[in-house]
Amino acid sequence: MTTELQQIVDAIGARRRFVVSSHSRPDGDSIGSSVSMALALRALGKEARVVHKDRAPAPLLGLPGVSGIEIADRAGDDFEAGIIMECGELARTGVAGLEGRFLINIDHHPGNAGFGQINWFDSSAAACGEMVFDLIRALDVPLSVEIATHIYLAVLTDTGSFHYSSISPRTFDICRLTLEAGVDPVEVAHTVYNSNNIGRLRLFGCVLNAMRTDHSGRIAILHLDHEMAREAGGTYDDTEGLINEPLTVKEIQAVVFFKQIEGDEYRVSMRSKGDVDIGAVARELGGGGHKNAAGCTVTGPIDALQQTLVKKMEDAVEGQESGRAAHRR
Ligand code: 5GP
Ligand code: MN
Repeated sequence: MTTELQQIVDAIGARRRFVVSSHSRPDGDSIGSSVSMALALRALGKEARVVHKDRAPAPLLGLPGVSGIEIADRAGDDFEAGIIMECGELARTGVAGLEGRFLINIDHHPGNAGFGQINWFDSSAAACGEMVFDLIRALDVPLSVEIATHIYLAVLTDTGSFHYSSISPRTFDICRLTLEAGVDPVEVAHTVYNSNNIGRLRLFGCVLNAMRTDHSGRIAILHLDHEMAREAGGTYDDTEGLINEPLTVKEIQAVVFFKQIEGDEYRVSMRSKGDVDIGAVARELGGGGHKNAAGCTVTGPIDALQQTLVKKMEDAVEGQESGRAAHRR
């Protein structure tokens, strides 16, 4: 067991009331890590509340424990420790009242600020849920089917349904154990991917129809504003997964997706294939993430922003190609 893991086991053993949180606009890993952690704490006879700033994506609302997540922008006072999942900085929770408390910081993203009393990072984990799996084992909590479902959800979604290079033998070991605990992977995949509304499909059509590529045809540029969403009959929540579609084209190596927040402010999501490191691009612009999945928030005229991002991504694609050439030599 690593020192940090042992410290977390001891800290949990010494306390009774917990708040578990993760980043705003939670994804499958945030939900899976938070809920599995809370279920494990309750199995130990502890009190655990999950407090998130934003609601879970609609398809996940029916999974065990998800309807019990408190949606709030304050944590309340009645807890002895906060356990924060996959947040590079505490502010990413969007939940006030955690600062200054005893915090356990669990994350698999490079560049975590280390804001906790205990900071446990493992950038080799394909999902924060892999780390929670290790913690739950270290706590000697039996893997119930509910806990296992959330671990599997975290891994399934954070690996882009087993597409990203973050996958390791450990990923499949963990998945095997969750299946042995009773998880039905077909059912989870069905819940996550086949439970959408028609507005979402139309929104996908509208955004993909307007897709552009850079001059080399290797970088796809997507864009969405409030008016496009309204016309399609969808919402921004419905864009989950949309960014992965351009990567199904053989030539396309990376995708950047601009979502207008308000005026000149945009949420930027990026995805890439193989060794194209768009995590570094996101960090240069004040965001973060992994080699193949990253994001940031930027402000400026959309044309200039697109030019800047595309140039940086072209450099990332070329960096990967020269790396490959050097490897062959
Ligand atoms: P998404 O595109 O799904 O919003 O984010 C992809 C990945 O990048 C996630 O792992 C997420 O944690 C990370 N990420 C996205 N936006 C930001 C950001 O503004 N700051 C940091 N530090 N990480 C981000
Ligand atoms: Mn994650």
